[in-house]
Amino acid sequence: MVNSENYTFEEIPLVEAHELVMDYRVNPQEYVRALDGLSLNIWRGEFVAILGPEGSGKSTLIQLLGCLDRPTSGTIRIDNETVTDLPTNRLAGVRRDKMGFLFQTHHLVPTLVTIENVMLPLRYRNMSHREAEQLAGEWLVRVGLHDRMYHRPSELTGSEQQRAALARALVNDPLIIFCDEPTAELSMDAAQELIELMRGLNYEFGQTYVLATESEEIAAMCDRIVRIDAGKVTADTGLPIASSNDENPDPQTSEES
Ligand code: ADP
Ligand code: MG
Repeated sequence: MVNSENYTFEEIPLVEAHELVMDYRVNPQEYVRALDGLSLNIWRGEFVAILGPEGSGKSTLIQLLGCLDRPTSGTIRIDNETVTDLPTNRLAGVRRDKMGFLFQTHHLVPTLVTIENVMLPLRYRNMSHREAEQLAGEWLVRVGLHDRMYHRPSELTGSEQQRAALARALVNDPLIIFCDEPTAELSMDAAQELIELMRGLNYEFGQTYVLATESEEIAAMCDRIVRIDAGKVTADTGLPIASSNDENPDPQTSEES
């Protein structure tokens, strides 16, 4: 895989969010400030939890970093490109080329079998049916669904549905996977299993994972925990992936000011 070959320490973060403010206008006089000057850097290959209580701004942050919405102010750079300057059609391109998404519910197409669901993103990029089927099959094997490829979503358990959605997110070989409470509807056992699976794939393929959760247990399974509350970072265990390499300067101090 292309991305895993670049699994090295880098000076420039993959994601740089600078002083993000997000106001949701609820009526002409009133707005809700969901993000309040939040800054965050994420390095390539990291497995990061965004941990915070309900209403702390996790989903808003995922939406902004995932180029699904724009901040009221502040800038976001992804893979060395300032996405907050891009027109909407280019944002869609960034999402398609660089990102995968996993949400609380799977959003699989109910009328398609698992492998067809995983093939969809590839078919949108005009890959041949044969090639797409091959690749989708490989990812389904990796997420442990080799014997569920021809089942419809309704015939899968919640855990299997999320693994199918994960395969669909990974099949495009994205740089970064954004997960918004992907385990919220799973039992703790199934939730931990899903995180273990993602961690194994992160280790093997080097893709970056950003995972929003309200669960301390789930966050504890991640390499780094960024706590947010009221739209701000309140704590960050924040060492980048290559922190064990003593030759590297501390990238936490490299933030421009
Ligand atoms: P979390 O995902 O951590 O629960 P959210 O990002 O969904 O937090 O929400 C952060 C704050 O923004 C909350 O106060 C929420 O009510 C508010 N909010 C989120 N989306 C909207 C919206 N579309 N319109 C108005 N307020 C919103
Ligand atoms: Mg949320």
